Amino acid sequence: MARVSSLTPMAIVVLGTGALDMARRIQANFAQSRVHGLASRVNADIAYDDFGAHVRALYASGTPIVALCSAGIVIRALASCLANKGLEPPVLAVAQDGSAVVPLLGGMGGVNVLAREIGQALQVAPAITTSGELRFGQCLLAPPEGYALADIEQGKRFVSGLLAGETTRIEGHAPWLDDADLARADDARLAVRITPFAAHDEDSLVIHPRCVLAWIASDEDVEERMRAAMRAQGLSPLALAALAAPVRYMTSRSLEDAARALNVPLCFCDAPPFDTADAPGIALNVSDAPINAQSIGRTRGTLTVIGLGPGSAELMTPAARTALIAAEDVLGYETYVRMAGPFRDDQRMHMTDNREELQRARHAFELASLGRRVVVVSSGDPGVFAMAAAVLEALDKGRAAHPAWSAVKLAIVPGVSASLATAARAGAPLGHDFCVLSLSDNLKPWSVIEKRIAHAGEADLVMAFYNPLSKARPWQFDRAMEVVKQYRDPHTPVVLGRDIGRPAEALRIVALGELNSELVDMRTMVIVGSSTTRVVGDWVYTPRWYE
Ligand code: SAH
Repeated sequence: MARVSSLTPMAIVVLGTGALDMARRIQANFAQSRVHGLASRVNADIAYDDFGAHVRALYASGTPIVALCSAGIVIRALASCLANKGLEPPVLAVAQDGSAVVPLLGGMGGVNVLAREIGQALQVAPAITTSGELRFGQCLLAPPEGYALADIEQGKRFVSGLLAGETTRIEGHAPWLDDADLARADDARLAVRITPFAAHDEDSLVIHPRCVLAWIASDEDVEERMRAAMRAQGLSPLALAALAAPVRYMTSRSLEDAARALNVPLCFCDAPPFDTADAPGIALNVSDAPINAQSIGRTRGTLTVIGLGPGSAELMTPAARTALIAAEDVLGYETYVRMAGPFRDDQRMHMTDNREELQRARHAFELASLGRRVVVVSSGDPGVFAMAAAVLEALDKGRAAHPAWSAVKLAIVPGVSASLATAARAGAPLGHDFCVLSLSDNLKPWSVIEKRIAHAGEADLVMAFYNPLSKARPWQFDRAMEVVKQYRDPHTPVVLGRDIGRPAEALRIVALGELNSELVDMRTMVIVGSSTTRVVGDWVYTPRWYE
């Protein structure tokens, strides 16, 4: 499991407002963390209804948990999940007043490192109880970046030996152990061995430096051939630092799959980064120390177009959140870029005016073709009147002049569109056939809009209108509704959702006959029912059947 760092998206969980200040203080040290609060009591970044169920879901998804409540509450909530030790995220209890930091679970996931960091931020000593950690001043089974533990079970036996009073030798170069409180002896039975070679030695703590670089000159069966090449030289797969390949393989699927399976980065070079004279196909180079993969060649850039959902963090998909965490550059209309934050210092924000979509898309390709991880943000879903189409249009028009754009790894991550979010708040107005229309005539003639509304009216579709009105388009909404009224009864229910999923959220249900442009603006979603759409109490729905 990757160790926690200040970039890990932790869940800071609070039960009431009393813990909110402390939660924000901790959050300030971990840019990607979110404060989760009980919906009925606190206004936090993410709301939950049931503490136990929420904490168990976080635990199951591997999210580090910092709970600002008693250790007992957390233990009881997670009790049913603890039988299987498996991979465990760090779990800590922190006293509401910040006077105690108690690491509970996730020793291998770095809970003690996290406890020390939080302790430092709150200026209290963390309640570390792990004997190895206390005895040696660090977790011997979690070596620093650039090194990998060969075998956890072997490692635990080694640590028990040391705790029982045995001495150890160190074979190889392990600078981080200089500060560890180890009883060393040259003739010790136990040994810490730092080696890239596979070793099955009961008496050793084997740690592999990631010091092997591979040059892949042909992209067939890469994973299989890599494993065979490592095995032939007695090297552990954990000692592999990176795969390097010729630039022409930048879009190779098999190479990408192999790098993922071997859990190493992939980089591309114009020429082999070391002498590969007698090795056709795959060549390996073993260095003395861990290799920084970022210093070799360049990586394939990525461009991910995401939808943030209508506004609140809980309506953003985990896939969009993951893309934001990985992003180096974030582009978008200023409001949406801000909504996607907070960002870390190493992330660059590029905020532009809402109208410069094509230019923004080109800029995104420029950055991604330099090898950067670029995210373009839209509100709602990126494919609904938003950036995904602009990005593809830029590629369509620009790829002949910019061949590097075609090598960019492009992905579109869906989001909850405003029509769907509004519909859900109102009930199920989109429960039967519906259509989605934009009333903006900036990029299409008004005559087309009127014609489409007339056809949708005639087809008795529910209509979801985006971009209903703006200062530059003052008369269009009323005109559009005149067309609608030719096909719909004045009693037809209309749903008006304004700022759905945002703090100022407002929902109104009106009859078509009462509707006018005073009731809508640019932040409103308008859903006009069909002939079958009905109101039941506060809800609006369109039945699934049709007569
Ligand atoms: N890609 C976005 C739509 C962009 S067009 C999506 O899928 O939701 C912008 C229009 O969407 C606005 O004029 C408004 O009609 C609607 N809209 C966007 N966010 C909204 C929200 N939170 N509440 C209500 N309407 C919203």
